[in-house]
Amino acid sequence: MLEEMLRSIGTSPLSEYRMREPLSAHTTFRIGGPAAAWFSPGDERELAAVLRLCREHEIPYAILGNGSNLLAGDRGFDGVVISLEKNWSYCRKEKDGRLRAGAGTLLGNAARTAQKERLTGMEFAAGIPGTVGGALVMNAGAYGSEMKQILTEALVMTHEGQVLRLKAEELELGYRTSCIPSKGYIVLEGTFWLQPGDPEAIGLLMRELGARRREKQPLEYPSAGSTFKRPEGYFAGKLIQDAGLSGFSVGGAQVSEKHCGFVINRGGASAADVLALCEHVKKQVKDRFGVELELEIKRLGDF
Ligand code: FAD
Repeated sequence: MLEEMLRSIGTSPLSEYRMREPLSAHTTFRIGGPAAAWFSPGDERELAAVLRLCREHEIPYAILGNGSNLLAGDRGFDGVVISLEKNWSYCRKEKDGRLRAGAGTLLGNAARTAQKERLTGMEFAAGIPGTVGGALVMNAGAYGSEMKQILTEALVMTHEGQVLRLKAEELELGYRTSCIPSKGYIVLEGTFWLQPGDPEAIGLLMRELGARRREKQPLEYPSAGSTFKRPEGYFAGKLIQDAGLSGFSVGGAQVSEKHCGFVINRGGASAADVLALCEHVKKQVKDRFGVELELEIKRLGDF
């Protein structure tokens, strides 16, 4: 029935759906069982239609960016994952000088467009492997900068299919948080205010930050980036290292020896492995230092 309904919604040549789609293929952790359906709407009308379908039939849905901050459950997701990655992937400079990027645009591509347009301010985001939509949800940031500093407004769709243009302040962006999930918004587009800059200097900074990432982060293994939020006054990675947990493993999941703030998939890790490892890390850090670690990665589906 779900397949028939998706087929009847996705009539534009750009839309696509797949049934029993493994989430491991859509997460940078390379973990996750099947979603009942994966749907890439062709346009806003189809997006609103799939939301209506899910509402009317009480089918759970979730929005997927690049899956770089997600732990998907081993038992998958009994609902529709909606991907904007293909059809909301665009980035251009507007006449007023602002940069406008679709929610599915990879941050690296947005940063390179900014460079080409001689705009500086987005270099920090070039190495974050997420989409513009996921980055607004998380208020993604690195090297002392975050989306909040450059975002001016966003186009969102509500759960009911209404499209709203919101000012950045209305998204309540904080440290790796926003009100987007609690309000049920789906980000369609972000608009950024950047400064005029020299493309060569911009390129140099992006390369420097990229080299720092490659040196410090275990990019050779699947992961979802920093597993825990930075507790106030501490660094999660340092606390985990000081608790003697570097290299600690559960099944295929391991605390990276290169950067203890990352949990990596050494091969064949399950979501259960990652969660068990995170629980152990949290307990050890709490017992040793009295600090409560909070997961930065988001969970999706059934575990
Ligand atoms: P996803 O992981 O797909 O989704 C994250 C959440 O956002 C989910 O709840 C999802 O439902 C929701 N979502 C996604 N798109 C939309 C949308 N259009 N509308 C509404 N909700 C949506 N993060 C940092 O902040 N800084 C870093 O330096 C950094 N480095 C990383 C390095 C590595 C190697 C990896 C793997 C991850 C890193 N991350 C970092 C984490 C991650 O890349 C960011 O949080 C990124 O913003 C997530 O974007 P995404 O598109 O992958 O979102």
